[in-house]
Amino acid sequence: MSRYGIENLPYGVFSGDDGTRRIGVRLGSDVVDLSPLGGLLAAETLNPLLAAGRPAWTAARAEATAHVTAGAARTPLEEVRLHLPFEVADYTDFYSSEQHALNVGQILRPQSPGLSPSWRRLPIGYHGRSATVIVSGTTVERPSGQLADGVFGPSQRLDIEAEVGFVVGVPGRHIRTTDFADHVFGVVLLNDWSARDIQAFEYRPLGPFLGKSFATSISPWVVPLAALAPAAPAPQDPPPHDYLMPPGPGFDLRLTVDWNDTRVSSPPFAGMYWTAAQQLAHLTSNGASVRTGDLYASGTVSGSSRDQVGSFLELTRNGTEPVKLADGTTRGFLLDGDRVTIAGTTIGAAGVEIGLGSVTGTIRPAAS
Ligand code: CA
Repeated sequence: MSRYGIENLPYGVFSGDDGTRRIGVRLGSDVVDLSPLGGLLAAETLNPLLAAGRPAWTAARAEATAHVTAGAARTPLEEVRLHLPFEVADYTDFYSSEQHALNVGQILRPQSPGLSPSWRRLPIGYHGRSATVIVSGTTVERPSGQLADGVFGPSQRLDIEAEVGFVVGVPGRHIRTTDFADHVFGVVLLNDWSARDIQAFEYRPLGPFLGKSFATSISPWVVPLAALAPAAPAPQDPPPHDYLMPPGPGFDLRLTVDWNDTRVSSPPFAGMYWTAAQQLAHLTSNGASVRTGDLYASGTVSGSSRDQVGSFLELTRNGTEPVKLADGTTRGFLLDGDRVTIAGTTIGAAGVEIGLGSVTGTIRPAAS
């Protein structure tokens, strides 16, 4: 059974030979053009649909389902070009995997407590750079920067972070966790490329800056929340503050990370400590607004074992324990020409396995 059947129908934006961008849904290894349906589906990005809100999302999904069921024309994916599916407004990245936070603390700050004092009190995050959110398949230039005192050059510790991105449709402020599904349209897979040397030298006291802003890749297909099945959220202790309750749904998304042709990890999203609903509630709790096209990411998804981590920092213990790839070569961090693919599946709302697409990127050399 296809993971991209009628139960899934993720939305993307594609173009064919004439270059015109159209909204489509993925069906198997094809795309079905939705632009003949007109209205919100005749746009060149998903933003008008995102802005229209849940009743319009439900109607569009019903229309798309009927269109596909009626035998609409299909175009093989290899004959189209996939684009960034929506214009990204603001981009925020959280840090909500307890295991990832503990692993990073243990590797980089072994003398300090594993979690910062506020970690279990609020979903920690930072505001990133939407202008360099790129679609899967776009090559990633190795960033240069200050790697240490007086040293400027190409990053020698280029890494990935396997994450899930949530796409905001309806703007809001002071959003309650119970209103999550009225504001969030769907999910993408996301790679928060990270230059660990640039990051390490710059991050105190204000957090990530140029070590992460050079590129963030997302999958081309936005899987609507309607296709996903809510799962029990992870237990939280101590109980979160009232504005972060109830926690909202968890999602049992199963990710994989391939380094060139080697599967190196399978991070489980189900164990994430803070939910996407709590992240959105926290993000807007001070009166800050979100707008159509906002993207917020979960934070690196890591499970409890080495084959479940979402970064190479964790996989190779900061490069000290290189991994062997299928071609016999070893890696601590990314080399030029390396390709990373993050993919995912889940048991969807219809009770069958659905695909979450994939996000891939290849490293090209630093600008000279
Ligand atoms: Ca991140």
